[in-house]
Amino acid sequence: MKIVGHRKEKELIKKLLDKNYDSLSLLFEGKDCIGKKLFALYTARAYLCEKKEGFGCGECKDCRLVNNTISNIYEGTNLTPHYNIKLIQSESREIKIDQIREIIEFLQLKSEKGKVVIIEKAENMNIESSNALLKTLEEPPSNSLIILTTSNQAKLLPTILSRLKKIKFRNLSDEEIREILTLKGVNEEKLDNLIKIADGSLCLPLIILENENLYRYAKDISNLIINPKHPEGIFSLANSFENLEVQQAVLVFDIIYNLLSKALISGNINPDMFEMFIKEYKLARDALLKGVKKKLILLGFYFRLTDEVKRWKQF
Ligand SMILES: [Zn+2]
Repeated sequence: MKIVGHRKEKELIKKLLDKNYDSLSLLFEGKDCIGKKLFALYTARAYLCEKKEGFGCGECKDCRLVNNTISNIYEGTNLTPHYNIKLIQSESREIKIDQIREIIEFLQLKSEKGKVVIIEKAENMNIESSNALLKTLEEPPSNSLIILTTSNQAKLLPTILSRLKKIKFRNLSDEEIREILTLKGVNEEKLDNLIKIADGSLCLPLIILENENLYRYAKDISNLIINPKHPEGIFSLANSFENLEVQQAVLVFDIIYNLLSKALISGNINPDMFEMFIKEYKLARDALLKGVKKKLILLGFYFRLTDEVKRWKQF
């Protein structure tokens, strides 16, 4: 796994590490799916490297063990990981106090080497977890590096935020997204469409790679919105839409959102129309999650919205 992009963030982190603080607590803040966790792991490598070269020399014992940790996480290998790194991966689940206690104990264990703790999606910490962590951040053990990643810092306690050095991660550029997807072996024909809906992050492209039919639905629906001369196509789409899982149906709406954002930028729809779409998009999303019949949601969404488009284009 190689890190792509984030050159400025890299320089900033390296500068902080070079100051050789006794302990360092960082917050990596930015959109989901832009590489913050991988960056945190490379920062751990830089911190633990015996030679302290760049983001790790890649060859010393510590670097090799961190490489194992990275490969276990991203490639599903089962190699000996670095014993001085603890990572809490939370996905969408709550981070419980027991998980925080575990890392506190880990930080208190005696060790000649530095220790690294990474908490992914720190916004998922509940109030007890946050308070427990706060105590550690107030008096971090010497020779420790603590990294929290988040896409929503407003959900973190202000007292926690004030104890972290914040690194703002920018969105990925289209070229960086192209490079990462190419490294993942995505073929040339698919790249352009995936980049079109990416919006600075890999979340949607990665989901779409696993569910290509969803992209086709979203594209067909968006085309019928932008150009509603022959709206009858929506009926057969609505029949297929009914057979999707709820989460897949929500995803179709999210992809339409990205496609219409692009249409707005290129002038194919106007801002009023986009505003109307946002309203309908929220209603449709809520209705889907409440279990309303998917077919009805799509038809209602479509006809209310296209009435607006027709008015705008004066059909
Ligand atoms: Zn090294």
